[in-house]
Amino acid sequence: MKDTHVQVLVVGAGLGGLSATLFLAQQGIDVLTVSKHAGTALHPKATGQTPRTMELLRRAGVEDEVMAGSGGPITIKIAESLQGEVFRTIATDEDAPDFGALSPAPFGMASQDHVEPVLLDRSRDLGAEVRFHTELVSFTQDGDGVEARLLDVPTGRLTTVRADYLVAADGHRGKIRESLGIERHGHGPLAGHIGIIFEADLSLHTAPGRTTLFYLRNQAFTGAFVSLTTDRRHVLTIEHDSRESLADYDEDRCTALIRTATDVPDLTPKILDVTRWEMAAWMADRFSSGRVFLVGDAAKVTPPTGGLGGNTAVQDGYDIAWKLAAVLKGEAGTGLLASYEAERRPYAQAVVDSSYRNYVERFAPHLMDDDVPAPIDYLELGFGFPCRSSAVLPEDDDAAMEDPFTSTGRPGYRAPHVTVRHNGSETSTVDLFGRGWVLVTLDPAWNDCGVDVPVLTDPSGRLGTRYGIGDRGASLVRPDGVVAWRSPDLVLDPGATVRRVLDSVLDR
Ligand SMILES: Cc1cc2nc3c(=O)[nH]c(=O)nc-3n(C[C@H](O)[C@H](O)[C@H](O)COP(=O)(O)OP(=O)(O)OC[C@H]3O[C@@H](n4cnc5c(N)ncnc54)[C@H](O)[C@@H]3O)c2cc1C
Repeated sequence: MKDTHVQVLVVGAGLGGLSATLFLAQQGIDVLTVSKHAGTALHPKATGQTPRTMELLRRAGVEDEVMAGSGGPITIKIAESLQGEVFRTIATDEDAPDFGALSPAPFGMASQDHVEPVLLDRSRDLGAEVRFHTELVSFTQDGDGVEARLLDVPTGRLTTVRADYLVAADGHRGKIRESLGIERHGHGPLAGHIGIIFEADLSLHTAPGRTTLFYLRNQAFTGAFVSLTTDRRHVLTIEHDSRESLADYDEDRCTALIRTATDVPDLTPKILDVTRWEMAAWMADRFSSGRVFLVGDAAKVTPPTGGLGGNTAVQDGYDIAWKLAAVLKGEAGTGLLASYEAERRPYAQAVVDSSYRNYVERFAPHLMDDDVPAPIDYLELGFGFPCRSSAVLPEDDDAAMEDPFTSTGRPGYRAPHVTVRHNGSETSTVDLFGRGWVLVTLDPAWNDCGVDVPVLTDPSGRLGTRYGIGDRGASLVRPDGVVAWRSPDLVLDPGATVRRVLDSVLDR
C-alpha cells in the first residue's frame, strides 16, 4: 500500500468515527477512516436516536435508512421481571413529550448494528475511504499535521499516512487519549456486565411494535432487558461477579437467567452471543491536543442509562466535522477549533452526570447520596443545552439550559423548529440548516449578506417571536443549527454587520 496524505484521518469506525467520516465527506473533505476491527458493530448496544441526532442524520440523507431498522416507541420500567412487580414506570409512549412540536425529525429506535452500516455505506458513497482491519500503531504531530503508522492486520504490513488533522474515535479502551497525556476522571468502573443476545418469540410478553427496556432487580440478579422489536432479538445484560469469566455463562445458565427475566419458565431461547462489558463513567480532562480531537467514548464514557452515549458520539462527529471542514476550506481560522472542546465537554459532562444519576436510581439505589448529581431534564439536555464558546455571540451571561417548548432563539442555543413557507412549500426552519450558514429573516433588506438567506414567509406568524427577530430582524444560524447571533431589528448596514459577526465567530 502506498503512503498517502489525507486532510483528516479518523481512527475508529463506531458511531463517533463513522459520523465524523460521513459529515466530513459530505463537506467534500478528503477523509480516511481506519478501524482495527473486521467490520462494523455486531452487537445492538446503543439503541435510540433522539430527534436532535436524527436531525443531523437527516441532513446526511440517511434518516429513512436508519428508521427502516427502528423499533416502535419505548416503554421503560424498573421491575422485578417482565411480568413481576413494577417498582417504577419511567417512560411509556402515552406520556411521551410531543417531539413533533420540537423537531421535524422523528425519534428513532434503531440499534447500533443497524446504524453503523448505514453510516458506512453513505460515507463511502460520498467518497470517504474506510479501511477495516487497519490499526493505528503510533502517531506524531507537528505544526503542519499528523503522521500516523498504520498496520494492515491481515498482512502485517505497515504504512505511513500524513493528515492535516486526526479525529480520535477509538472508543472507551482507545489508546490515543493516553498517548496525548490526557487523563480522565470520574466515577470510573461501576459494574462488570454479562450481555446475552438471544432470539425468542416474546410477542405475548412484550408489547408488539414497541421497544421494551426493563431495568430488573430480583433475587437472582440486577440487570436490564431490552427487546429489539424489529427481529425477535433481545438483550439481557446482568451485573456479574468480577471473579467469573465468560465460560461461567454457558447455554443452560443463560437460559435460566432469561427465563427468570421474562417469567416464561419453558422458554427455549436461541443464544446468539454472550459478551462482557463494563459500565463506567469517565470524562477526559481535555477533548483535544494540537491537531488531534477526541470524539465519542474516547472523550467520555457514560453509563448507558439514558441512552445518550451513542447519540453524543454522533453529535460529536457532526460538531468536529463542520468545524474542521470550515478550517480546511479556508472559511475559518484555526481558532474555531477551540470551540469543539468548549462546547462539547460541558455537554458530555451533563450527559455523564445525568446518566450516572439514572444508573444509581435504576441499578444501585444504595449509592444514592448528596454527591449524586441532581436530575437533569431530558428535553432540556437534548434540545436546550447552551453552547458557550468563541463561535457564538451570547447576549448575556445566562447560560442555563432552556425549555425547548418555550425557547426564544437566543444565541448559543438550538434554533427552534417553526413551520414556514419556502420555495412554495411548507418546511421546518430546522430543515434549512446544515449545508452552511443561514440567515433567518422575513426582511429582504438582509439579502446580500454573504450567507444563504432563504426567502421565507411565515403563515403561522410564529417565526418572529420564536426567533426573537420580529418582522425586520435576523438570526444567523451555524451549520449545526445553533444560533450564533441575532438582531431584533434591521441594522444600518446588514451586509457589513453579518460579515463582522462571521469574522468574529469564525476567527478570521
Ligand atoms: C451494552 C451497551 C449498551 C449501550 N446502550 C446504549 C444506548 O442504548 N444508547 C446510547 O446512546 N449508547 C449506548 N451505549 C453506548 C454506545 O455504544 C457508545 O457510546 C458508542 O458505541 C461509542 O461509539 P464510539 O464510536 O465512540 O466508540 P466505539 O463504538 O467503541 O468504536 C471504537 C472504534 O475504534 C476502533 N479502534 C480502537 N482502537 C483502534 C486503533 N488503535 N486503530 C484502529 N481502530 C481502533 C475500533 O475498531 C472501533 O471501530 C451502550 C454501550 C454498551 C456497551
